[in-house]
Amino acid sequence: MENIIQLVDKYKIGKIIVDEPLKKYNTYKIGGNAKYIIYPKNEEKLIILLKYIKENNIKYKVIGRGSNLIFSSKLYDGVIIKLDEFDNLDIEDTIVTVGAGYSIMKLAIEMTKKGLSGLEFATGIPGSVGGAVFMNAGAYNSDMGYIVSEVKVIDPNFNIVTLYNSDLDFHYRTSFLQKNPEYICIEAKLVLKHGDRKEMIEIIEDRKQRRLLTQPLEFPSAGSVFRNPDIAPAGKLIEDAGLKGKTIGGAMISKKHANFIINTGGATGEDIYNLINLVKNEIKKKTGVELKQEQEFVNWE
Ligand SMILES: Cc1cc2nc3c(=O)[nH]c(=O)nc-3n(C[C@H](O)[C@H](O)[C@H](O)COP(=O)(O)OP(=O)(O)OC[C@H]3O[C@@H](n4cnc5c(N)ncnc54)[C@H](O)[C@@H]3O)c2cc1C
Repeated sequence: MENIIQLVDKYKIGKIIVDEPLKKYNTYKIGGNAKYIIYPKNEEKLIILLKYIKENNIKYKVIGRGSNLIFSSKLYDGVIIKLDEFDNLDIEDTIVTVGAGYSIMKLAIEMTKKGLSGLEFATGIPGSVGGAVFMNAGAYNSDMGYIVSEVKVIDPNFNIVTLYNSDLDFHYRTSFLQKNPEYICIEAKLVLKHGDRKEMIEIIEDRKQRRLLTQPLEFPSAGSVFRNPDIAPAGKLIEDAGLKGKTIGGAMISKKHANFIINTGGATGEDIYNLINLVKNEIKKKTGVELKQEQEFVNWE
């Protein structure tokens, strides 16, 4: 039987990289190597690849910008699929159709410049459109659920289907896609509004300054580690437990924002894993609260 390199070549699937360090593909800058990283050129090529992966029982994961992932140091013995080629963008009045690989931050800035309002919350979120839909990414009391009208997905039977907002089950940092990771988002349709460009730019600039003051953006991280429980923000519980600055290997609970773990240099996924468990145990002991992670462990099984 042909191997995956031959398949990619035969069907002109797209770029393939072999034995590639994953640290280049996530914002913590951690992880072992991936056996293959593949950039399918379009949905038809993606479906050919997915069918081959399924028939041959190969491990795979679609990733966006890796801004919510914690990779282990092991070899990822399978295929990492990147949808960077899915970067189409079409704007008709206030309706924006955008590929899953498009940067949500770039999109937010571009829409603001055009005076299209609704994505201002995303100017500090370094993910892809697909990852933002999957996570229902959000900030400042807004999230993707407010603006996504529908998404185009490849379903587990390799059909391209449309899921509407009501199908997507958006709640705080979760969605239908998160509960059904075998669906792959390839495109999203967003409904924005006409807004006052000057006001929007001011809001974004103000929030940017606040983020620079309160978040450790000078270090690699993946944003908030834990979801906020009902009783208080996770960062407040961690700070009150005296855990700011706590370090394991190269991973540290940020002194600036206790819900961020930063890579101070040379951190491994295992350092972050151990620090997360330490925080969970301490907070459970001190407050009874079971912190739930926002970030996802990949390649730990
Ligand atoms: C400095 C910093 C600040 C941040 N601030 C915020 C914030 O304010 N609000 C917030 O919500 N998040 C924030 N984040 C977290 C992160 O940016 C978001 O969760 C983002 O939506 C993840 O997108 P991604 O493309 O990087 O996804 P990845 O991290 O690559 O993947 C996340 C999950 O989505 C799945 N996925 C990715 N693409 C697809 C697709 N096309 N189809 C199906 N599944 C897919 C992956 O398989 C994975 O399970 C921050 C992160 C950083 C580093």
